[in-house]
Amino acid sequence: MLNPAEIEKLDVEAVNSASNRQPLYVARRKIHPKRASGNFRQLKWIVMAITLGIYYLTPWLRWDRGPHAPDQAVLVDLAHGRFYFFFIEIWPQELFYVAGLLVMAGIGLFLLTSTIGRAWCGYTCPQTVWVDLFLVVERAIEGDRNARIKLDQAPMSFRKLGLRLTKHMSWLLIAVATGGAWIFYFADAPTLFRDFFTGQAAPVAYITVAILTATTYTFGGLMREQVCIYMCPWPRIQAAMLDENSLTVTYNDWRGEPRSRHTKKAVAAGERNGDCVDCNACVAVCPMGIDIRDGQQLACITCALCIDACDGVMDKLHKERGLISYATFRDYDANMALATVGGTTPIDPARVRGSDGRFVPGIADFNWRSVLRLRTLIYVTIWTLIGLIMLYALLTRDRLEVNVLRDRNPQYVILSDGSVRNGYTVKLLNMIPQPRTITLRLEGLPGASMSVSGLHTGPEERSVNVPVEPDRLRALKVFVRQPADQAHPERQTFRFVVEDKVNQETSAYTATFNAPGEHK
Ligand code: SF4
Ligand code: SF4
Repeated sequence: MLNPAEIEKLDVEAVNSASNRQPLYVARRKIHPKRASGNFRQLKWIVMAITLGIYYLTPWLRWDRGPHAPDQAVLVDLAHGRFYFFFIEIWPQELFYVAGLLVMAGIGLFLLTSTIGRAWCGYTCPQTVWVDLFLVVERAIEGDRNARIKLDQAPMSFRKLGLRLTKHMSWLLIAVATGGAWIFYFADAPTLFRDFFTGQAAPVAYITVAILTATTYTFGGLMREQVCIYMCPWPRIQAAMLDENSLTVTYNDWRGEPRSRHTKKAVAAGERNGDCVDCNACVAVCPMGIDIRDGQQLACITCALCIDACDGVMDKLHKERGLISYATFRDYDANMALATVGGTTPIDPARVRGSDGRFVPGIADFNWRSVLRLRTLIYVTIWTLIGLIMLYALLTRDRLEVNVLRDRNPQYVILSDGSVRNGYTVKLLNMIPQPRTITLRLEGLPGASMSVSGLHTGPEERSVNVPVEPDRLRALKVFVRQPADQAHPERQTFRFVVEDKVNQETSAYTATFNAPGEHK
């Protein structure tokens, strides 16, 4: 077991310290986060690999939809107004599914925040993931914290120039790959890849890649923590969403204070002494440049790297891990009340430890039951309900639709034989990637017949067969005629019915028929 004084004290300042806020317009002071290792760092590597893998590889996944539809598994086909997601195809009028997914994502985020705090920020937010990736590259090229500080302070030399160029070129390559991957979601990836590098892609593709390259490089490489602290609204929203049962990264000062590097001397002198040996390891690994011992701060993204750093120190001192830990405000307050006799005295760690040096039984610890509370159950219920409704709507939705627009001017025409004719624009939507022959027929309107412009129909047809291309809308100009002896002075309603006899799908639209005497 190491003596606390033997634990290296890192020379580091929390540049964004809550207890020593910099003026708003002061120039950024660079942070040099030290490499952390531990359980949370491992978890972050895994999450990073999964999220980056999903982002970069998804456009290259193929999904066979037959010869009449693209075979890219995930594709936003702006040219044809389609969104493909594996077996799901969304038309523009079905965008409410996307809206529903966004609502579910929002409620999911509320649920996550109310249970495990800012886990989104700490593990999966693109800003966090890309900054992490840029830091990995920086460390691989320039070394860990001390080497980078030394390099920053060194005068310009061939070595420094070489390292800097290598780093920035590597960052730029990642940034280009990030922008490049994004455009592959909007067109066939292999085709666009070839076109892009042969100069045949659309200008918007080059402009998009240029913008995303610039933003990725600037946000991930240069601005880093400033994006989270000054630009992102989420920390502000989130602060209002945490409650006393939300888990958040916490410095347990009820066991850590008073901090000291000279525990033995302090104890010998009869002074109170906490577990914190003031080694600054937690500050050195923090990518946000803060000191978690200052308390909860908006700048803390809860990446938990300080937990790993401090757990490493506690292991060396043979003390319980968790001086910095995920804790709820409720548990923290209970333990603080214990250590300070309800806030009436300074923290005395002796109140939380028995004579055997172990924590007293009254110490509050995380209990999974606090996750299952009314608020989280409401979120889960709403989330599940929306999900089920969307799933039901998706599984039972029509893939054949008809929309009708009646001509307004003229409202009707009286033909030479006295019959009355109304004109309509009938839109047939074949929403599957296969060609179909759709039967369009009239239902109601006694004696009426129809003719379709561009199709050979007999004079008295009430039903016509219309070929429609796969995954397309076909607009028809349809004239409905009613003989003079059947014409009605009042507005009549009837239905255009469309039917795919092969796939046994039907859809209908109720339209109106105007005749003399009815001009509205
Ligand atoms: S204080 Fe800890 S959890 Fe918060 S950002 Fe810094 S290292 Fe991450
Ligand atoms: S909280 Fe832990 S890591 Fe931070 S200074 Fe104290 S002992 Fe060191």
